[in-house]
Amino acid sequence: MRPLRAFYRYVAFPLCFFGGVWLAHGLMARGHAPGLVVSGLAVVTAVVVIIGEQVLPYAAAWNRSHRDTLTDLLHSTLSNGGVSALVRPAILGLAAWLATAVEVPWSIWPTGWPWPLQLALALTAAEFAHYWIHRGMHTVGWLWKLHAIHHSAPRLYWLNAGRSHPLAVTVILLFDLPAMLLLGAPDAALAMYLVATAIHGLFQHCNIDLRLGPLNHVFSMAELHRWHHARTGPGAFANYGGNLIIWDTVFGTRYLPDAGIAPDAIGFEGDEAYPTGFLGQLAAPFQGDPNAFGQRAAAPVERAPTGP
Ligand SMILES: [Zn+2]
Repeated sequence: MRPLRAFYRYVAFPLCFFGGVWLAHGLMARGHAPGLVVSGLAVVTAVVVIIGEQVLPYAAAWNRSHRDTLTDLLHSTLSNGGVSALVRPAILGLAAWLATAVEVPWSIWPTGWPWPLQLALALTAAEFAHYWIHRGMHTVGWLWKLHAIHHSAPRLYWLNAGRSHPLAVTVILLFDLPAMLLLGAPDAALAMYLVATAIHGLFQHCNIDLRLGPLNHVFSMAELHRWHHARTGPGAFANYGGNLIIWDTVFGTRYLPDAGIAPDAIGFEGDEAYPTGFLGQLAAPFQGDPNAFGQRAAAPVERAPTGP
C-alpha cells in the first residue's frame, strides 16, 4: 500500500482528532476566540477529508454527485450553520442566565483535572444524552420525521455531516449541551467539546476506507456509522453514538461485523419518494401521512450483536 493510502487508512483520523484538539487547546489558551478556532480546524479537517476521499475511497461511486451536493451544501451552511449561529448561543445564554438566577448550588465539574480528562468527561456526558435522543429519533415517529433527512442521503461523504433538519439539530443541542452544563462544565470544556465534535463529524461520514482497529471501541467512526445508515438489518438500529461508541456498547446496540462486509444499501425503505431539494426537505416533516417515511420508527429496536 502506498504511503499516502496507508496514511489515510490508519493515521489520518487519529492524527487530525488528537492533534486538532491539542492544537485547539493551545490556541484558546493563548486567547484566540473559540469560534474562530473551531471554524478554522473544521475547514482544515474538511480539506484533509476531501483529499482522502480521492486517495482512498470506500466506494468510488460515492465520489460522484448524486444531485445531492447543492442540497447538502445548503443544509451544512444554513440548517447547521444557522442553528449554530442562532440557537446554540441562545441555549448557552439561557443556561448561563438560569445558573445565575437560580444560583445552582452544585458544581461537580473537576476543574482541577488535566484538560484531556475534562474533554473526555464532556464527551461522555454529552454522548449519554446524544445516545438517547438519537435512539429516540429512530423509534419515535415525529422525531424520526425530523431525522429522516439525514438518512435520506443517497451516499456517504464528508458533507453528510451537515445534512440535517434545523429542528433536528436544535433538538439534539437541547439534549447534548445541558448534559454538560448540569455537571457545571466551564466554557473551556464546552469549547473543546465543539472542536472534537467538528473534527469527528467530518470524518464520521467520510467516503474514506479507513480502519481504526481498537479505536472502534472508543469512537463512533465511519466503519460503525456506515452500518447506522444501512437500509435494513441489525445495523440500521445500531451505533447511535455521535462521537463515542461507548454508550452503544453499554446498552447493547454496538454493531460492527468484519471489515470486509459492507451494508447492501444505505437509506430507508420509501426514500425513493423523499424530497431531494433543500426546501422540500425542510417541509417534509410537516407534510403528508404522519406515518410516511416512518418505517424505521415502526420497526422494533432489537438488541444488536457486538462485533470485534
Ligand atoms: Zn440516525
